[in-house]
Amino acid sequence: MEQDMNGKVALVSGAGRGIGRQIALDLAMRGCTVVCASKNESSCGKTAEEIRAKGLQAEAFAVDVSSSDDVKRMCAALLEKYSAVDIIVNNAGITKDNLIMRMSDDEWRQVISTNLDSCFYVVRNLVRAMMQKRWGRIINISSISGQFGNAGQANYSAAKAGIIGFTKTLARELAPRNITVNAIAPGFISTDMTSVLPQSVVDTLMANIPLKRMGTVDDIAKACSFLASDDASYITGQVLAVNGGLGM
Ligand code: NAD
Repeated sequence: MEQDMNGKVALVSGAGRGIGRQIALDLAMRGCTVVCASKNESSCGKTAEEIRAKGLQAEAFAVDVSSSDDVKRMCAALLEKYSAVDIIVNNAGITKDNLIMRMSDDEWRQVISTNLDSCFYVVRNLVRAMMQKRWGRIINISSISGQFGNAGQANYSAAKAGIIGFTKTLARELAPRNITVNAIAPGFISTDMTSVLPQSVVDTLMANIPLKRMGTVDDIAKACSFLASDDASYITGQVLAVNGGLGM
């Protein structure tokens, strides 16, 4: 694997499993020192250990990204240790699906705060140091639900659509400092999050995917590493759909 990101520090939220874990592994393989952050200490610890076992650089950080104070604490510790984070991947996310008339305040709030507020908290705390370096990459993981909507996911699609607006605004604000900001909108990716879907939903989705397969965590990680690399230095404010052609 080409080591083209040596010396860069990357923060990946939700790196304990699924897409975030693979993004962390891929960035580490390319030479980044990766901070694997997750709510669950043992799972992000496992990812970091897996990376270090390959002779690469990683550390774990337990954080609840939906808490402003907790994110502030993590970011202060990271800035103290590394002086700046070069690559931010806002990946942590949850779903709490329900039809709108049955959706509780709690289901709405938790999904918005974990998926959307978290991006704001992380970027706000790390962006000053990134601006001073005059180089940075921010990659926010949105969803096809945020682009097209999905019945039963009013909370999740609102959060993921919010991420797109957030991405486009930051791209404009931070471009003068050579920081690119992009979103990835995964389609239907095989992870724990999608393993709970009923077979009938899976069958319908599969019938509508032109490439006729679910995406893999590696499909998303490769797209993320590309956006984080120097090869993507003229790409900002974009939403990269990685979805097998679903909803084209
Ligand atoms: P997952 O449920 O397998 O993993 C989510 C990770 O986020 C876990 O490590 C979990 O501990 C962490 N997390 C959750 N809440 C957190 C919190 N409050 N603080 C810190 N960490 C927290 O999910 P996944 O399928 O790997 O999805 C990753 C991202 O991709 C999410 O943002 C998700 O919305 C998005 N996405 C996934 C799919 C898919 O098909 N799997 C499709 C579109 C978008």
